[in-house]
Amino acid sequence: MAFERRFATEAACRAYLVQLRWPEGVRCHRCHAPSVWATARRLYHCTFCGFQTSVLTGTIFQDTKADLRLWFRAMWYVTNQKSGVSALGLQRALGLGSYRTAWAWLHKLRVAMVRPGRERLTGEVEVDETYLGGPKPGKHGRGAAGKALIVVAAQVDGGRIGRIRLRRVPDTSAPSLERAVQAAVEPGSVVRTDGLHSYRRLVARGYVHEVVRKETAVGDNLLPRVNRVVALLKRWLLGIHQGRVSVAHLDAYLDEFTFRFNRRTSRWRGKLFYRLVQQAVAVDARPVKRLRRQLVAA
Ligand SMILES: [Zn+2]
Repeated sequence: MAFERRFATEAACRAYLVQLRWPEGVRCHRCHAPSVWATARRLYHCTFCGFQTSVLTGTIFQDTKADLRLWFRAMWYVTNQKSGVSALGLQRALGLGSYRTAWAWLHKLRVAMVRPGRERLTGEVEVDETYLGGPKPGKHGRGAAGKALIVVAAQVDGGRIGRIRLRRVPDTSAPSLERAVQAAVEPGSVVRTDGLHSYRRLVARGYVHEVVRKETAVGDNLLPRVNRVVALLKRWLLGIHQGRVSVAHLDAYLDEFTFRFNRRTSRWRGKLFYRLVQQAVAVDARPVKRLRRQLVAA
């Protein structure tokens, strides 16, 4: 109810977006000049280049015809479902007419979940690979075909797991795994892996490399944090998607899982909502292009 009161009007939602997008004052979307004046049509006219910016320009809300209040409810719903949401669940919760709309919204929100704040992990980090998805049991004899290979990086936080990063890689070659480590972990950090040969040049890439040996006694959990993350990720995928995760959409699911996992200790759900809205108005064209490809592929 507090949420409904706080965002009772379109204007309240818009003001919230303006505040999160331009905490230091409105800027032109094109030339970034800070001198703009508000038009009657809720645009900001740049006195420098004449461009008219909307708070929605370049965000996941761009070109939306829906009421922002509905978007806010969608974001509130998504952040309040502890284990994640399906398009059908979102459609029902908001009373959306079309499943396709719910699906498209959910994918846009997933893009927002992974936007900025992608600073790399530091300190001690466990890294391992795992296969996800692919043919159901019964369709045998295809090996790794149709499966996706994921690199999991989990930060050591005392006896617990800190933040994580998940990344799809094409294969277990040294260049693929090194690129994944470089994207996930700050150089200078300690990277702990098994004895896979592909990791052998991590020291040359600026990391302190610790190898835990696979050949030790069966049952030894030498990379306990990544193993735990992999188990949770597989259970989560099964739980909300009944395991029917197509490899084409896997990146979006990995983003959602990472977002939720890294904020799992946020005591206040409102904080999660705040982060989601903040990332929804952060402007970066690249993930939107990726989203467009996903929508075309769907
Ligand atoms: Zn301008």
